[in-house]
Amino acid sequence: MQSGRVVRGIGGTGLTLTLALALGCSGAEELPVYEGELRMFSVDHADGTHRMGYGLRTADGQSFELAFEGEPSVKPGDHVIVQAQPADALASGQPGQVGERLQVRSLEVVKSESDLVTSRDALVNGTPRTVRVAILPLVFPGTTARIDVNTARQRLDTVSAYYKELSYGAWTVQGDALAPLNLAKPANCNLDTIANAARAAARAAGRDLSVYAHVGFVIPNNPGFTDCACGLAWVGRPPAAGNSFGDGSLYTCTDPNAFAHEFGHGFGLGHASTARCGTGSAYKPNPYSSCPPDEYGNAFNTMGGGLGHMNAFQKSTMLWLDKCNNVRVSRDATYDLVPIQSASNGIQSLQIPTGDTVDGRPLYFWVEYRNPALASFNAGPGGAPEVNTGVHVDVAQDFRSDGGNRNPLLLDLAPNYPNTHRDPRLTSGRTFQDPNGRVSISVVSQSADKASVRVTFPGGGSGTNTCSDGSLPGGGTAPGPQPGSVVRLAAQHSGKCMDVPGSNLGSGTQLQQWSCNGTNAQAFRLQAAAGGAFNLVNVNSGKCLDISNSSTDDFGIVQQWDCNGTNAQAFRLTSSGGGYSLANVNSGKCVDVQSASIDDGAKLVQYSCHGGTNQSWNLR
Ligand SMILES: [Zn+2]
Repeated sequence: MQSGRVVRGIGGTGLTLTLALALGCSGAEELPVYEGELRMFSVDHADGTHRMGYGLRTADGQSFELAFEGEPSVKPGDHVIVQAQPADALASGQPGQVGERLQVRSLEVVKSESDLVTSRDALVNGTPRTVRVAILPLVFPGTTARIDVNTARQRLDTVSAYYKELSYGAWTVQGDALAPLNLAKPANCNLDTIANAARAAARAAGRDLSVYAHVGFVIPNNPGFTDCACGLAWVGRPPAAGNSFGDGSLYTCTDPNAFAHEFGHGFGLGHASTARCGTGSAYKPNPYSSCPPDEYGNAFNTMGGGLGHMNAFQKSTMLWLDKCNNVRVSRDATYDLVPIQSASNGIQSLQIPTGDTVDGRPLYFWVEYRNPALASFNAGPGGAPEVNTGVHVDVAQDFRSDGGNRNPLLLDLAPNYPNTHRDPRLTSGRTFQDPNGRVSISVVSQSADKASVRVTFPGGGSGTNTCSDGSLPGGGTAPGPQPGSVVRLAAQHSGKCMDVPGSNLGSGTQLQQWSCNGTNAQAFRLQAAAGGAFNLVNVNSGKCLDISNSSTDDFGIVQQWDCNGTNAQAFRLTSSGGGYSLANVNSGKCVDVQSASIDDGAKLVQYSCHGGTNQSWNLR
């Protein structure tokens, strides 16, 4: 925790406002300080428009909307301290708000105990999981409930069946259709104003809403508000990126898709969008700007248009696809893809580097095969169910990434690329050639139970095609470290990646472990050194992994430094405990996550080699 820091009263009180106005011009140091959990929200309007933003939940349960200049480098679940001043409210009548708006002048991310809990909660590992949710109809004086309990029960049955099918049986979304709750009319249609009032009213009535990971609050008929959205939810963090749930959503739309969609936000998913690159073009570099996304354009997907299967990126980030369901492909190969709708231990997803980035993070082509006959949830364009088989290609980040734009973009691969996304399928005998010339993707053949997909790179590509769990497609373990290959090193005890803090470029920066996020600050090139050892060159900074001052002591600092050819920068990679130990050639000691911490930010030191899992690194 921070010390010597006063966190001021944050009731939206006159005092706070006065201070901000009186001192706002004298520098950021004088502004009111707010501390709490950083959150994201998504507002869905019935007319197909939307708004996303950041919020702050304080320890005493108040919520604020945070306005930033530019894109902040924070993620949902971060514990933050901000200096901010009350901002102008959104225009009256603009629907979908979460609390008083604050203009942020400075922001600091701090560690907290709750981060630890979140990290432990994240270890789903494909095991069955029950998520308790509820639908709670609200009634204000003079209004009637918008949804009755029987209808809410039907909606929850549909949503539960939907998530059961999508997760291949792993997730049970166990829903309670709660009796309508009477409460005084809230001051406005803000999600948290209403959620807080409803939670308090429920508590007073002896009903406990805290047992639910997510509660859907339904606005009554004729509520007397003009600024309610169709749906609005706090966005959580998906399991592969460190699970935390967005705990509430608010509705005026009550169709099954509305609940499945907003719950999806609560589970950590963004919208399923489409890349509109123009007729005749399926893809362009920097697609999030050069192919203006249609936010809800993917009509085959609940986070886009309707109740249909989520795509390979989304299913991987939810860990519904795991182990060798997803293969990262960087070298020529042909794989049989099992349809995304089937429960399978086979390959169902290919993740292929595009060479492009979004928000500084690498982008991939995500390839999957779809056969709607194998599923019951099959939304298609124009409200008709999808019936055709074929390969879908989306563009999205790595599934473990926990920041930046996480909306996957579906490409339109119909002949001549009409950019309607009504028939985006790549079908047997056809090839998608990436306009960058980096890769081509061909469907060799397709049948009801598989599509054979060939991926080719100029010169055959490089590296090793590897499953999400580090194994090799078809079985076996990855070959030993190869000179010239680019690897990510995940500590066995924590699953977290070796990382240069803040993507720092400077010499002398001590390395840490951090949640794997696909950035080049976590990528290292293995360069051959004398005697079979390696230098590990950070791809982002170009600097070498180094033991500070050529120390030979326990707790010697592991840092990055200009590559200088000394033995303090040479490491022997030896198979150990399922991964590799990294023994420094100069000291003989091993790269170690200090105190076997599982926290983000835990420091790397050298320590006498002991074969423990905090000295064993998986190469990915
Ligand atoms: Zn949405």
